[in-house]
Amino acid sequence: MENGAATRLVALPGAMLSMKESDLMLGGRDVMIDLPVPSFVVEHPKGLVLFDTGVNPQVAENPDQYWGRAAKFLNVRFSRNLTVDNQLREHGYNPADVKCVVVSHLHLDHAGGLALFPDAKFFIVKGELAHAYWPEPRLRPAFILGDILPTRGFDWQEVTQDTDIFGDGSLQMLRTVGHTPGECSLFVRLRHSPPVVLTGDTVHIRRQLTTLAPMPTDYDPNEAAESIKRLRRIQDLGLARLWVSHDPEDWKNYPHAME
Ligand SMILES: [Zn+2]
Repeated sequence: MENGAATRLVALPGAMLSMKESDLMLGGRDVMIDLPVPSFVVEHPKGLVLFDTGVNPQVAENPDQYWGRAAKFLNVRFSRNLTVDNQLREHGYNPADVKCVVVSHLHLDHAGGLALFPDAKFFIVKGELAHAYWPEPRLRPAFILGDILPTRGFDWQEVTQDTDIFGDGSLQMLRTVGHTPGECSLFVRLRHSPPVVLTGDTVHIRRQLTTLAPMPTDYDPNEAAESIKRLRRIQDLGLARLWVSHDPEDWKNYPHAME
């Protein structure tokens, strides 16, 4: 039976960004929103799983040099103690114990710490890696080659559909593409808490779950809208709660450790 469960889910704080709501959502307002950039670590009997890796350590030293004009556009605030490896240590984990990394997508605020886990197995939706190496010019500022090139020899598992990481139903990659060609979300079933879906950037702010409006810079807005609908259906049917990774209210309201 596919009734396995993870033992613990911990949200790791990362950088803070600020963007206009209208840059996050078509039809959004002209107001600035502060966006947390968490990564998540999941304890499972078969090993430690990381969802996303946050911002590259070099951004803490020189954001303009490493990110180019995206640094100012995103108003990034970041420091060395917030890198994903340091946050793992801070929360009592050894980064070398991370067995699997599930990559929501390869944008600069999610893929910056990939190279810190050379021995892990990386799960990603097929199409994302190739696109991140050579995105179309309008989308290029959101991908940093320096995040990706050092991982060329890593153990990448490219999946073409929803994927059950350990085969026990506890951790399921949901193919929620559109924001990028290989965007995914992660369903997590825990022993003593209701299931939760970590949305990655399938949605950026909770308001999109009402408007179903994609982001102006989504790779494929129609697919993005379909993926938002899929997540909303999961929520409406009561199959799982949604943790919208960048949503400031979700960051405030969800417990940062669940069992
Ligand atoms: Zn993104």
